[in-house]
Amino acid sequence: MTDCIFCKIITGEIPSKKIYEDDDVLAFWDISPQAPVHFLVIPKKHIPRPVDITEVEEQLTGKLLRIGGQIAQENGVEDGFRVVFNNGAKAGQVVFHLHMHILGGKDRPWPM
Ligand code: 5GP
Ligand code: ZN
Repeated sequence: MTDCIFCKIITGEIPSKKIYEDDDVLAFWDISPQAPVHFLVIPKKHIPRPVDITEVEEQLTGKLLRIGGQIAQENGVEDGFRVVFNNGAKAGQVVFHLHMHILGGKDRPWPM
C-alpha cells in the first residue's frame, strides 16, 4: 500500500523508534503516547482493520499479542497494561493498517 503510513514505517520511508522487528511483525513507540508506556505492534502484511482479518492470518495476529506481551514485560508493565485495537473511524481508528496498542505505566488506565 503506497499511501499507508504504517507500510512506510515498515519500509523505513517514514522514520520510527523501532522496538522489535522480524519477518512478519514490527513494534515501535507511538508518536503521541497516551500512557508512560505506549507502543504499537503491527503485522508487516497490510490488513486494514480487525474485521479484515481472515483465517490465514490467525497465527500472525495472535503473534501480535505474544510480542506485545514480551515488550510490555521488558518495559516493566507486565502487571498492568491495556491492549487496544480500534476498528473503524467511529471507534477512533485513524491509521487503516491493523495495529495493536499497548498502554501501560499508570494505574487503572481505563477510561483513557
Ligand atoms: P488509531 O487511532 O488508528 O488506533 O491509532 C493510530 C496511532 O498511530 C495513534 O496512536 C498515533 O499517535 C500513531 N501514529 C500515527 N502516525 C504515526 C507515525 O508516523 N509514527 C508513529 N510512531 N506513530 C504514529
Ligand atoms: Zn499498510
